[in-house]
Amino acid sequence: PAAPKPAGGILNKAIALTKGEVVLSEKDLEGPLWELEMALLESDVALPVAESIIKRVKEDLTGQHKKFLRSTGDLAEDALRDSIASILNTNALDFDDFVRKSNRPVVITFIGVNGAGKTTTIAKLGERLKEQGYGVVIAAGDTFRAGAIEQLEKHADRLGIKMIKHAQGADPAAVIYDAVQFAKNNKKDIVLADTAGRLHTNINLMEQLRKINRVVKPDLVIFVDEAIAGNDAVERAKLFNDAVPVSGTILTKADADAKGGAAISIAHITGKPILFLGVGQEYKDLKKFETDWFVDRLFE
Ligand code: GDP
Repeated sequence: PAAPKPAGGILNKAIALTKGEVVLSEKDLEGPLWELEMALLESDVALPVAESIIKRVKEDLTGQHKKFLRSTGDLAEDALRDSIASILNTNALDFDDFVRKSNRPVVITFIGVNGAGKTTTIAKLGERLKEQGYGVVIAAGDTFRAGAIEQLEKHADRLGIKMIKHAQGADPAAVIYDAVQFAKNNKKDIVLADTAGRLHTNINLMEQLRKINRVVKPDLVIFVDEAIAGNDAVERAKLFNDAVPVSGTILTKADADAKGGAAISIAHITGKPILFLGVGQEYKDLKKFETDWFVDRLFE
């Protein structure tokens, strides 16, 4: 009889069992997978996320055929790389492509806790988009934190980008709505909207974010958090994503972190790609996230 066709995909290379192959059992996989799970934890991937990824790899590999010559450890590592790459799934949303193709104005809100780097990230992205030739408007949507409007305004002035603001305490949905109207009236391409990040009154904050979504219907909701945040980032990603589904994440302070597990944890929790990495305090320090580069670094 003809041999069955290979199923395709790195996890499905199995062909009919021939001489020199063995079937992988759960027991064979135990040791290598345990080591890989430890490696994930050492890279600051959150425990429940690491467990879930390893469980999936185990399910995919159990019963697969392997050649005697390949070590189970190598095979498991390949499968893990593949699994991580699919979680990071950066192909799902190409930011530049999205901006180029969307109707004007493209409205992007930035959500995340105070100190995560939202203001700096908006400024970096504002400069990047301006350099690409787009007309950019910034909306001072954090009307809660004292000094937030002024801080953002300093960046906007320095970059020569128009900023729309109301008084402190104003309704952020109204500020962002006005910025969108301004963009429409002045043929601007993109609105970058800051939002509040006070977590101690988070129920109110989540309501506010939902209201912004209803009123301005953003094209993208970008979650901003720190690469160095570890497990806290997972909790926050869950909290924010449950309130307003995020389109993608920007991880700041990646320059301070060689591990990067937060990227995997957050992508896993939100089911959405990491778009950019913040790699410093200057405007130019924004790097497009590349899965291959990241995964290679993780397995170094
Ligand atoms: P926000 O409260 O979320 O708006 O946070 P800010 O934008 O004010 O950032 C908080 C601090 O983190 C500031 O001192 C920023 O300069 C710093 N920061 C933001 N992004 C990065 C980054 O990618 N790398 C480094 N090293 N610092 C950053």
